[in-house]
Amino acid sequence: MATEPPAIQSSWAVVQDHRRVFQDLVYLYPVISRRSRGLSIGVNLNPDKRCNFDCVYCEVDRKTPGRATSVRLDQLRDELVWLVQHARDGTLAQQPKFCEVPELTRQIRDIAFSGDGEPTMIPNFEECVRTVAEVRHQLGLDDTKLVLITDSAGLDKGSVKRGLELMDAHHGEIWCKLDAGTPEYYRLVNRSFVQFSRILKNILETARVRPVIIQSLFLRIRGEAMTPAELAAYCDRLNEIVAAGGRIREVHAYTVARPTPETWATRLTREELEGLATEIRRRTGLKVEVFD
Ligand code: SF4
Repeated sequence: MATEPPAIQSSWAVVQDHRRVFQDLVYLYPVISRRSRGLSIGVNLNPDKRCNFDCVYCEVDRKTPGRATSVRLDQLRDELVWLVQHARDGTLAQQPKFCEVPELTRQIRDIAFSGDGEPTMIPNFEECVRTVAEVRHQLGLDDTKLVLITDSAGLDKGSVKRGLELMDAHHGEIWCKLDAGTPEYYRLVNRSFVQFSRILKNILETARVRPVIIQSLFLRIRGEAMTPAELAAYCDRLNEIVAAGGRIREVHAYTVARPTPETWATRLTREELEGLATEIRRRTGLKVEVFD
């Protein structure tokens, strides 16, 4: 049975450290995550660093080449088994990275498909989910969630839809990025060639099948925070999704946590983030959690 996790402090070095490299692993990396409330095993489905967004706050170093160009299922399986065993036998707790919070490494809160790019871009997404779901079952990780952290651009692909159905059967959660309310602000923040309307449609269609979590990063761009008009438009988009039959379990509101290559993309204060969350709750009636 899962026990209630302690509050994760964003000031902890281990929380600040979200490097997607651990020892010699190519696809897997352990992190202590505020939003996962403990140990999250990240599955980097984009070791090639491909993404269809170019967010101003992205931390991925794309000047350095990636470590692989595809996801090999046999290696993914082996790495996951190895990492789960090391979490369970206490080896992970002894790593310098986790010396602040060794006890948190014993319980795997989730296995999250994310990484150095957009997970839904890979051609074998369904097979990756299947492989992870099989290991999860074999190792008795029945309380461990499978999470997909996505920019939503590829949620309409056949292989991705089948992967989501597999996730539904294995305690899955879909975290859909939505950082804007208008196409203009979306282009400013996410700098993607994918149409904003397609992102919204994909979130809606996905949320009609199962509840989703909306993850929204709010920040200051060249000193300017999101305007009240943009925030109102953002809330309108959420309300439209719900009105059209989409289910939003909650909204995760967060901000820039670590230095980004674009030095003019900077974090909001906790108070500013709380203010935005209050307004989102007022306008939408949705549950909003703040992670600063
Ligand atoms: S979607 Fe994620 S990986 Fe892609 S550019 Fe944005 S922050 Fe970076």
